[in-house]
Amino acid sequence: MKITFGKGILCCGCKRRFGSRDIAYQYKETCLCNNCHSKFMRYSDEAYFEVSDNVEFLVPAFHYKRLCRKIFLDFKFNSCEAYGHILGMAMADVLKNRDDFSEYSYIVPVPVSKKRFMERGYNQSEILAEYISGVFNIPIYNALRRKRHSAPQSTVKNSRRAENVKDAYETIADVTGKNVVLIDDICTTGSTVSECVKTLQKSGAGKVCVISGAYNVRMWVDRTIHRFI
Ligand SMILES: [Zn+2]
Repeated sequence: MKITFGKGILCCGCKRRFGSRDIAYQYKETCLCNNCHSKFMRYSDEAYFEVSDNVEFLVPAFHYKRLCRKIFLDFKFNSCEAYGHILGMAMADVLKNRDDFSEYSYIVPVPVSKKRFMERGYNQSEILAEYISGVFNIPIYNALRRKRHSAPQSTVKNSRRAENVKDAYETIADVTGKNVVLIDDICTTGSTVSECVKTLQKSGAGKVCVISGAYNVRMWVDRTIHRFI
């Protein structure tokens, strides 16, 4: 991709500069241009996963592929914090007409370990949660803490991901009887959200549902998420 420099704000998709009339979203010096926005929205999804056992439902905003995947990866692994704000805006747009969150009291972002936070400088789920909180008017409550550091899930074989995050979280705030929306950035096997949901419910949370920024269609093609939760 040719990167052009000059006046304007940089699109996180095509890395070209645009004037404010040509953009869909802007955060500081980063934007998503109209062209990338229309491509990006092709990965939006109305998917709604009814999940067995302890999760009410899981709603992903996007398919994790191509342009969408590229922006999520830059956000998560290449220190592009501003991209997360663009993704948060896109998620809020995709999800804003849903009416199934009215019974929920808190939005809880999936936490990162202290080590990861120091390396990255932000918790990616918390940035996304800001926009979900805004669109549904539900406050963010950092009720979970990651108590041990482990390898990033993306570097661990799918069959070992559940073990990699087992007992990795604890609650650090009172969630007794509260219905909680858990926010994760990318959901592939569901192991991370599964572990977080178990932790919240062990501490007495009421209903828990999950919003993820993106999900891996290939892995969920037969909707096997229930096997992991
Ligand atoms: Zn663009």
